[in-house]
Amino acid sequence: MKEIPKKLVVIGAGYVGTELGTAYANFGTEVTFLEGAKDILGGFEKSMTQLVKKGLKKKGATVITEAMAKGVEETKDGVKVSYEVKGKEEIIEADYVLVTVGRRPNTSEIGLEQVGIELDEKGLIKVDKQSRTTVKNIYAIGDIVPGAPLAHKASYEGKIAAEAISGEKSEVDYIGIPAVAFVEPELAMVGLTEAQAKEEGYDVKVGKFPFAANGRALSLNNTDGFLKLITRKEDGLILGGQIAGPNASDMISEIGLAVEAGMTAEDLALTIHAHPTLGEITMEAAEVALGSPIHIM
Ligand SMILES: Cc1cc2nc3c(=O)[nH]c(=O)nc-3n(C[C@H](O)[C@H](O)[C@H](O)COP(=O)(O)OP(=O)(O)OC[C@H]3O[C@@H](n4cnc5c(N)ncnc54)[C@H](O)[C@@H]3O)c2cc1C
Repeated sequence: MKEIPKKLVVIGAGYVGTELGTAYANFGTEVTFLEGAKDILGGFEKSMTQLVKKGLKKKGATVITEAMAKGVEETKDGVKVSYEVKGKEEIIEADYVLVTVGRRPNTSEIGLEQVGIELDEKGLIKVDKQSRTTVKNIYAIGDIVPGAPLAHKASYEGKIAAEAISGEKSEVDYIGIPAVAFVEPELAMVGLTEAQAKEEGYDVKVGKFPFAANGRALSLNNTDGFLKLITRKEDGLILGGQIAGPNASDMISEIGLAVEAGMTAEDLALTIHAHPTLGEITMEAAEVALGSPIHIM
């Protein structure tokens, strides 16, 4: 867009909608998010999305959840968006509407069936663990195959497919795949959440550390958020982690490595982290999980 709209309606408060809507809210646009689900940023824990909603409110944005967009009408000055919330039809007027829902695979009319490539019920291409389709010399990777539609998943699968094509025995393993929302504060997660770990039958020990108790976060004047490590109680195996806070998108890589390499809370706690850095939060959350925190009770 050539101008910054005064008013913008964003349909869908997943990561794309929330990221772009936040950018416009930062430019001074009055942003209204319409989200059909109970919460924004599906997949992230409520304690994380609450921080994002608090930040959006401060910027003057409005978040309406359980609101299904029904239609958009172009007017002389902009758009009228109709939506249903709690059984009531409402209308909101704005300069523009940004639709961030409804991406789907474009696989129906390109002759895939003619060569024998099978699709699943969503129209995604079926592949095995080497990214091979149902036709043995055709491979598929990325958004067009099942799984999280993320750029780093696509490139990871591309590498595995290249190795498989060269005759290696490589297979995909998504245990350490991170998900990030570049919102404020940044949100990131990898591996299992606390709820997922419990569902899978793990006896869990959580180590949670607030950014507010970290020197680097204090010096950045950016202390909203926390880091949560999910560990297996019996031996401290790192099952997953969630971060809400500045640089969460970079910090999640260390937890991803721990998950991927089968490290324990002790491994993280005994890794010397430079001071003062945000990375120390990961070490200190591991100490909390081990029951020996130094900077919090
Ligand atoms: C607004 C937005 C923000 C995003 N932000 C992030 C992010 O921050 N981090 C992240 O990890 N992911 C993000 N994603 C998702 C990310 O872009 C995708 O997961 C990634 O691009 C998938 O790569 P791909 O190669 O599978 O598909 P694509 O990048 O979509 O590439 C597919 C290509 O194929 C072309 N094509 C389609 N049909 C045909 C055809 N019939 N013939 C020839 N060419 C065709 C398309 O034009 C396209 O160029 C975002 C997506 C969107 C829409």
